[in-house]
Amino acid sequence: MSFTTRFAPSPTGPLHLGHAYSALLAHDMAHAAGGRFLLRIDDLDTSRCRSEYEAQIFDDLAWLGLDWPRPVLRQSERLPAYRAALERLWDMGLLFPCSCSRADIRAAVSAPQEGAPAHGPDGLIYPGTCRPKAPPSGAMPDMPLRLDMARALARLDAPVTFTETGTGPAGETGRITPEDMTGRVGDVALARPGLGASYHLSVVVDDAAQGITHVIRGQDLFEATQIHVLLQQLLELPVPLYHHHRLIRDSAGKRLAKRDDARAIATYRAQGDSPQSLRARLGL
Ligand code: GLU
Repeated sequence: MSFTTRFAPSPTGPLHLGHAYSALLAHDMAHAAGGRFLLRIDDLDTSRCRSEYEAQIFDDLAWLGLDWPRPVLRQSERLPAYRAALERLWDMGLLFPCSCSRADIRAAVSAPQEGAPAHGPDGLIYPGTCRPKAPPSGAMPDMPLRLDMARALARLDAPVTFTETGTGPAGETGRITPEDMTGRVGDVALARPGLGASYHLSVVVDDAAQGITHVIRGQDLFEATQIHVLLQQLLELPVPLYHHHRLIRDSAGKRLAKRDDARAIATYRAQGDSPQSLRARLGL
């Protein structure tokens, strides 16, 4: 399949320099390979997404000189596809319901005998509070669901492995085979309360549906990649190549956040910056 990549922002705030870098890099790499650059709107969390931010995304990206096929895919319109993937994992006996809140998990892992709580790609590693001894039977309940990580890994014929063509935060590159996903990742949430699906599930289902061959994104998502590849293997989906890029930081070395208005693309535009000067700022 020809090179296909995507930029997948969530419309929860104005795009900043870090987003500009990610979108321009993906667009340039697709262009250089004679491939396709897609835009996807990651608006699963409708309580945090705003249509004015989405409009601003289109406007900022067009201003940067980017082009993409329309209409774009919106995750809020993809709930049946996510549900089908969850049903499949449920029928394989790999999911279990769990309504523990973040506070419940914090309380459970902070018990004095537990030692320092371990963190994974999603924050505190789930301590297994609701994990059943045997896979639950019957129809999939309309509840938050977690992946039974040990059971999922036991289902695989081959280890989780992916190819990194960029660099992870510790300089990782080439063929990556994560160790000990049970202990370092834990039972990740795949259906979140009120959202239908979690980021990990939706991104995997959509990358496959859109024929994404190259995932180009920031190093902040490097650790999540092992979860994505595991889900691809369980759901028999193709594993794309991954290219994680450096993060754009502020002068204090902190990663830019959506609330960092000073570095919003809109602020540079208002100051009279051109797309070329923004590219130059980013070293592109
Ligand atoms: N929507 C995600 C974000 O805003 C990016 C998803 C991805 O590239 O995998 O960080």
